Amino acid sequence: LITDQIPGSLYELEDRLATDLLWLDRPVRAWVPPRVVGDREILDVAVVGAGINGLATMAALQAHGIHRVRAFDRSAAGREGPWSTYARMRTLRTAKELPGLALGIPSLTFRAWFEAQFGRAAFEAMTAIPTAQWMEYLVWYRRVLKLDVLNNAEITWIGRGGAGLLALHCQTPTERRVEYARRIVIATGLDGLGAPYLPPVAQNVSSRFRAHSSDIFDPSTLRGLRVAVVGSGASAMDNAAAALEAGAAQVDLFVRRPSLEKVDKLAGISSFGSRIGYPGLADADRWEIMNEASKATTAAPQHSIQRVSAWANARFHLVSPVLDMTEALDTVTLTTPNGRYEVDFVIFATGFGIDYDQRPEFSEVTRRAFKWGEAYVPPAAQANETLALSPYLGGSFEFIPRPGNSDDSWISSVHCFCGASLLSQGKTTSGIPSLTEGVTTLVRGLVRSLFIEDRNIWLERFHSFGGFGTGLEA
Ligand SMILES: Cc1cc2nc3c(=O)[nH]c(=O)nc-3n(C[C@H](O)[C@H](O)[C@H](O)COP(=O)(O)OP(=O)(O)OC[C@H]3O[C@@H](n4cnc5c(N)ncnc54)[C@H](O)[C@@H]3O)c2cc1C
Repeated sequence: LITDQIPGSLYELEDRLATDLLWLDRPVRAWVPPRVVGDREILDVAVVGAGINGLATMAALQAHGIHRVRAFDRSAAGREGPWSTYARMRTLRTAKELPGLALGIPSLTFRAWFEAQFGRAAFEAMTAIPTAQWMEYLVWYRRVLKLDVLNNAEITWIGRGGAGLLALHCQTPTERRVEYARRIVIATGLDGLGAPYLPPVAQNVSSRFRAHSSDIFDPSTLRGLRVAVVGSGASAMDNAAAALEAGAAQVDLFVRRPSLEKVDKLAGISSFGSRIGYPGLADADRWEIMNEASKATTAAPQHSIQRVSAWANARFHLVSPVLDMTEALDTVTLTTPNGRYEVDFVIFATGFGIDYDQRPEFSEVTRRAFKWGEAYVPPAAQANETLALSPYLGGSFEFIPRPGNSDDSWISSVHCFCGASLLSQGKTTSGIPSLTEGVTTLVRGLVRSLFIEDRNIWLERFHSFGGFGTGLEA
């Protein structure tokens, strides 16, 4: 998928992008003094994960003059994030006009990329962005901005690296290497400090009978089978539709609620103001909002529901929590308050959770991090064990050590730019709509902290040259 070939119609756009960057005086000149230890040049920032948040972080760092940046992603190039692997939806769930990763540059938008190839009329006629094309756009974005991403590179450990640096252990197909960086951004997605969530009842049956909606599997293996889907959100619909289209004999959706979720609860306060203002709310307000929001699921778009309801062999079972599951030979029986159902395979579309044990690569940091459950005691009616696990982050997504543990202050050089930041920072890392605001907050924090850490260098330069910002080009 990553290729040096430029489709003909993108030449013009790339020309325009080059001009836009020139007029904005980008890339901004490097200003961070280089660090060299032995014969190694140290990364200013290492980014774990090259999904949309990782890529946008790299682009924003470039725009702020921080250039020794590399991302590491365990996926192959062009397979990062959910888009080309387990997002079983035909189109994105979000509005096609959103500027997303463009960071204020019109020629970097999906729209510019699309119109350059297919024209304005085609963009206007399109209902939503086809998922496969969104991934193609991300591949283009990475190439035109020359972002340094190492693929097939799993980060297996991060921690202190000596000399005030952080170390990352990186496993590639051919070697295990250690990288050093001054800052680390964890951009590992919705389950970035955890894993796909499976309810306890799922453990009753062996793994050959079940999958999570985020597992990568071939829907054609469901042909002729009776499939149960547990959940009612957007991913439940996408997985049910994929099974039906692949020729499943029957698809039963088991929904706890009396009706399908119609709205995204957080959309009620979604605005430019809330995206920037939310982290400034008192702990009690943030907890109350996210506790209430956590009771809802991600509402499926109307067209996703219709993709399922169009099939006569699809059945929705409302007020039907799955109370028990048993397996016998080649079938599974699900028990709900409304009856028992025999199926051949079960897909759990039950979301993601924080689970530090599932992410040993980050445990040096997360076991030292201050958690919401330690920082804030909610009213009894708002008790929520899941929220209590969330890291209590600083204003730039940085981890904070527990009060009084100053030896652990190094963990504040690690920034939690993934799903686990939700309670502290609001919905800034969980989608395209608020990506710009999240990335801006993160990168300004990185700029500030790197600058302050180098204060002695800057003061020395100031006294010998008479001003800031001279003679330090890398
Ligand atoms: C099925 C589905 C559909 C969605 N649809 C939409 C939508 O239409 N619109 C929208 O705005 N949002 C959507 N979202 C939300 C979407 O996940 C996020 O918007 C987006 O993918 C988050 O980007 P990210 O960069 O944080 O994480 P991801 O895109 O998940 O990328 C994280 C990356 O980190 C890498 N990684 C993880 N751990 C390691 C490690 N230890 N070492 C190296 N690499 C690692 C992974 O390989 C992955 O590529 C959807 C989510 C899902 C699950």
